[in-house]
Amino acid sequence: MKIIMLGAPGAGKGTQAKMVAEKYHIPHISTGDIFRANIKNGTKLGMEAKEYMDKGLLVPDELTVKILLDRVAQEDCQGGYVLDGFPRTIPQAEVLDRALAELGDAIDYAVNVDVPDENIVNRMSGRRACLSCGATYHMVHIPPKKEGVCDTCGQPLVLRDDDKPETVKNRLGVYHEQTQPLIDFYEKKGVLKTVDGTQDMKDVFQAIAAILG
Ligand code: ADP
Ligand code: ADP
Ligand code: ZN
Repeated sequence: MKIIMLGAPGAGKGTQAKMVAEKYHIPHISTGDIFRANIKNGTKLGMEAKEYMDKGLLVPDELTVKILLDRVAQEDCQGGYVLDGFPRTIPQAEVLDRALAELGDAIDYAVNVDVPDENIVNRMSGRRACLSCGATYHMVHIPPKKEGVCDTCGQPLVLRDDDKPETVKNRLGVYHEQTQPLIDFYEKKGVLKTVDGTQDMKDVFQAIAAILG
């Protein structure tokens, strides 16, 4: 099963994608996580990506598409995957579509996690991330067992540089301009499913699982 998670920054794509990956035994692929791992390791890709990420802008398609295509070509993706944060532009979606079509394949579902802008700034300012294992928490809604510490790996949790309110505003603008058109794109392909992302994390997941079967 090949699934795309769509939604604004902070809508809960990552949170849901992790649960989908676990339930359906498929890898969770987050381009944001791949970029952050590269930044942490000081690679050339990481340094290039950081310039854009810190401003709340998208990393150019030239850099993004190749890492995604390389990733989905790996052995563990044979049985499907859940993409979180890719595609984010129409050209990215077209490249993915063509690459799949060449293999006689296609995306099965594009799940749109719908959350209004009013809720997003709250989601983002409360988000705490573990840069070590990629786990995500929310100080109020989804707190870790011990404050400031990752449940999974024990590393300290941080507020991402790009989750500060000023940058979040930019990211929302970028979302509406460049990413939201994908909703129409996948609607036309007949694979779009929308869920109400303002519900509790578990209820959102229940709605998604009902769609995926
Ligand atoms: P969020 O989950 O909050 O939406 P991500 O971790 O997906 O954030 O992405 C963080 C940043 O990484 C984005 O603001 C953007 O700069 C960059 N990024 C991630 N995925 C892509 C992509 N597919 N295309 C361009 N930039 C991306
Ligand atoms: P995205 O990947 O779309 O940027 P995340 O999954 O990282 O979004 O979620 C953004 C923030 O909102 C995180 O702090 C996360 O813990 C929290 N969150 C996720 N789902 C919910 C929910 N259903 N209700 C409340 N908070 C949520
Ligand atoms: Zn961790």
